[in-house]
Amino acid sequence: MKFISTRGNGEERVSSAQAIKQGLASDGGLFMPENIPTLTSDELLMLQEKSYPERAAYVIGKFLTDYTYEELLCDASEAYSYEKFGNNAAPVVRVNDNLAALELWHGPTCAFKDMALQIMPRLFVRALRKTNESREALILVATSGDTGKAALEGYRDVNGTKIQVFYPTDGVSKVQKLQMQTQEGKNVSVKAIRGNFDDAQSGVKRIFADSAMASLLNESGVFLSSANSINWGRLVPQIVYYVSAYLDMAERGDIAFGEAIDVCVPTGNFGNIFAAYIAKLMGLPLGRLICASNQNNVLTEFLSSGRYNKKRDFYATISPSMDILISSNLERLLYLVAGPERTRGYMNKLNSLGSYTVDDDIFESITATFIGIHADEDETKATIRRIYEKENYLIDTHTAVAMCAAAKYMNIYKAERKVLVVSTASPYKFAKDVYLSLTGSDASELSDTDALGALSSLTGTEIPTPLAAVLNKNILHPDIIGRDDMDNSVKDFVTP
Ligand SMILES: *Cc1c(COP(=O)(O)O)cnc(C)c1O
Repeated sequence: MKFISTRGNGEERVSSAQAIKQGLASDGGLFMPENIPTLTSDELLMLQEKSYPERAAYVIGKFLTDYTYEELLCDASEAYSYEKFGNNAAPVVRVNDNLAALELWHGPTCAFKDMALQIMPRLFVRALRKTNESREALILVATSGDTGKAALEGYRDVNGTKIQVFYPTDGVSKVQKLQMQTQEGKNVSVKAIRGNFDDAQSGVKRIFADSAMASLLNESGVFLSSANSINWGRLVPQIVYYVSAYLDMAERGDIAFGEAIDVCVPTGNFGNIFAAYIAKLMGLPLGRLICASNQNNVLTEFLSSGRYNKKRDFYATISPSMDILISSNLERLLYLVAGPERTRGYMNKLNSLGSYTVDDDIFESITATFIGIHADEDETKATIRRIYEKENYLIDTHTAVAMCAAAKYMNIYKAERKVLVVSTASPYKFAKDVYLSLTGSDASELSDTDALGALSSLTGTEIPTPLAAVLNKNILHPDIIGRDDMDNSVKDFVTP
């Protein structure tokens, strides 16, 4: 299987290892497989008997054809091990007769990014070997919270890599800060920046564009890479949990084998929901895909009007991992329904004008599967409380956006299919807002760390071990640096 650009003429055809090593296509587009492989019902039945790592190796192997099944099974077994994810990497919880939740937060950082970032570094290191790359990769990350910690956990002690993460010192929650400051691993570096997320992000971009830095690193046998969510190596592991969830539901008798289900996904960069779409194209019986957004509802507008407009107010919400105005992976959907030429046109318009409108036939194909629904802040809080009181099920703020969208969907469309809501973070990851939503109080003096205990006492549920542990671990990375010192800290890290 070769990979081509969403914006190209098909001339750049690369292996999966090359696509994973390179990240972006050379024309600025995203890599896509040349065709979408299928999963027959016989294959699905065969996978029903298998463990999560076996399912992962099989499904990922359909795309990464230059990796052997044994290599993928080795990587998946290490990534989704009992030590890291417990018994089941992606359990489906029955909420009521019509509703189930796919919990993707049982990994080391308690959020769904672990599903991809635990295996991606292993795929990446193999990609270096397969493309005869002898240098070491330095992964640079600017983070506003979740991605930094998940990338650190994914790349820690992975041979052939180093990782350095920059976060805004006042721009992350106390728990997120502790998670990063206590990070263990021989190949990790974490720096707080005096500045905001944009300062950290532009600093990283500047270092990537700096050719003097590139040659200096090259002399030390190092090259720069990113852990970005547009890398195919991050997308492909996300297809697996849709297949796995479906098989688990069928096996348990929640659905008949072959019966279609709808899926509702809390969406930011459009990566998670796009993986569901690929699973559907492969042959998994999925019906509608409901794209749930918070107050930053650029995708809701796109899916109801055909116009994507990034020129709009930005809101900082209680579901911060979905606070996004440019959903990069939407480009992959455009490519599949409109082809590379029209995709290139839309993306050029987005860059130059800040908006584009898709042609009518494209809009029709997209909305045959996708529906956009959003939830505002009050609805999100009310949903946390309603689901807890009515269903005795505790959810985080991101999952609540999707639960709210799913309820609206069932009301409006009266669909007969069961709805699988994707649950993307542990409620304890966003303990303060969850606690405040449940109690209706506005105890703004409640600290993030105290909120963990408060939520546990209120609900009688346990604080996940990785989050509880953070409170007692030693601070290993106390440094706060100026935003102009980022270059130096990269150099110091590589050539101590
Ligand atoms: C990243 C993230 C999302 C959004 O996922 P996308 O793939 O960017 O659409 C939703 N919820 C949580 C908790 C996340 O960390």
